[in-house]
Amino acid sequence: MLEVKAVSKFFDDFAALSGANLTVPDGSIVAVIGPNGAGKTTLFNLITGQLKPDRGQIVFSGEEIQHLPPHTICHRGIARSFQIANVFPRLTVFENVQVSVLSHQGQSNRLFRPASSLLVRETTEILESVGLGRQGRRLAGTLSHGDQRTLEIAIALGSQPRLLILDEPTAGMSPEETAATLELIKRLARSRGLTILFCEHDMDIVFAIAQSIMVMQHGRTILQAPPDEVRQNRQVQEAYLGGVDA
Ligand code: ADP
Ligand code: MG
Repeated sequence: MLEVKAVSKFFDDFAALSGANLTVPDGSIVAVIGPNGAGKTTLFNLITGQLKPDRGQIVFSGEEIQHLPPHTICHRGIARSFQIANVFPRLTVFENVQVSVLSHQGQSNRLFRPASSLLVRETTEILESVGLGRQGRRLAGTLSHGDQRTLEIAIALGSQPRLLILDEPTAGMSPEETAATLELIKRLARSRGLTILFCEHDMDIVFAIAQSIMVMQHGRTILQAPPDEVRQNRQVQEAYLGGVDA
């Protein structure tokens, strides 16, 4: 579904990414791991068009997308959540998701129907699918941190993505919220047929749900392999001995 080929990104002289590679098969859950500063968020920003690569290609569904603006990439089926929760705190939970559904539909059929029952149904269905069905009328800013991050996933689902990218989805969560988020990710992959790409510091989470793990260090891909192979890889063990912040 997604192929990142030898992508490099410089900030002035600094190579945040140098020749990173990543393969995300259709229907899979893929994790990116690596110490702080390895380039995980930069990689996601390149995939979603927030940044443009200096070298390399990003191929989604058989087409190069690295030159496209973020809204076009979103419209083609890639949505993301951010490392820092990114909701509209003064809108209700329902409105946060509704805005997302609306902006996607506004683009796709050009028929602006803000009060359409379809919109309400879709928004309700998304909120229920992430477990926020009963929180719709609350102001987003009053939700717990964990629920705000879940809301962010719901907002991402509003654009009906095929590939969902999550940047440290459990950062700052309690153990209970973390467990619930894990279940949510697995459930979304299954029930919506979503392909999921995420990065995460907690290795227990990564090894619990990822079918393939890409290991990064200093902007490079060390390897991408199934969990067992990654666990046994000497280079990975050495890279992580030097100072894991996980
Ligand atoms: P990670 O998400 O793996 O922690 P990042 O992708 O955020 O890593 O950052 C990779 C490196 O690129 C870091 O050294 C970071 O300081 C640098 N970097 C990221 N974004 C910028 C930017 N906009 N300008 C300059 N340097 C940046
Ligand atoms: Mg990051």
